[in-house]
Amino acid sequence: MSHHWGYDPDNGPEHWHKDFPIAKGNRQSPVDIDTKAAAHDPKLKPLSICYEQATSKRIVNNGHAFNVEFDDSQDTAVLKEGPLADTYRLIQFHFHWGSCDGQGSEHTVDKKKYSAELHLVHWNTKYGAFSKAVQQPDGLAVLGVFLKVGDAKPGLQKVVDVLASIKTKGKSAAFTDFDPRGLLPSSLDYWTYPGSLTTPPLLECVTWIVLREPISVSSEQMTKFRQLSFSGEGEAEKPMVDNWRPAQPLKGRQVRASFQ
Ligand SMILES: [Zn+2]
Repeated sequence: MSHHWGYDPDNGPEHWHKDFPIAKGNRQSPVDIDTKAAAHDPKLKPLSICYEQATSKRIVNNGHAFNVEFDDSQDTAVLKEGPLADTYRLIQFHFHWGSCDGQGSEHTVDKKKYSAELHLVHWNTKYGAFSKAVQQPDGLAVLGVFLKVGDAKPGLQKVVDVLASIKTKGKSAAFTDFDPRGLLPSSLDYWTYPGSLTTPPLLECVTWIVLREPISVSSEQMTKFRQLSFSGEGEAEKPMVDNWRPAQPLKGRQVRASFQ
């Protein structure tokens, strides 16, 4: 690729393997979750999501999505238990979404695509830094939450309202005192499997934890995501939509369920 990766026909997911050959690796994400094949594992513990002290700092349009970044210099917001043997610290969350309500999620459930998918990204504190953790097979834990369109999600509105200030690539804004607990569904039932980052460099460092229960967001909230731009200020506008990678082959991996 003579140009940077993206989601266009000429630089999208089908091209990524040329610069990132791990794209065809053995534990790539996302995957389709076949609910009949995902066996309940009674040894899986409930998740422990400790976000009371989470400290959001900034929101940034990186030209692929927008990230809400957290202070990860201490164990203030952590994910543990569930399938995890260690403590994982929240560093950022972001979403993937569609150009219409019928697509946008990365994981699918029995081939069903949701309208969007939230990724809360955590790194294993035993590796000391995010940049070290991504080089380890158990380096990251990403909590995935599906979004469907229906009633508004009140806990999302602060995010929606700041998006106009980071419309173009490279823009950022201060974003403090945001409570990520407002983005979670009521049930923490989950599926889990070993996988990868879903964007280049596609490193195979992620324990995926995908919640079964979607959250509902309003059509108006979803529309504001689609008013962001992949392009920079002063460039031809490219609506930030369909920033999702399609399902990848399981290659023998098992998806386990925390519930019957
Ligand atoms: Zn993601």
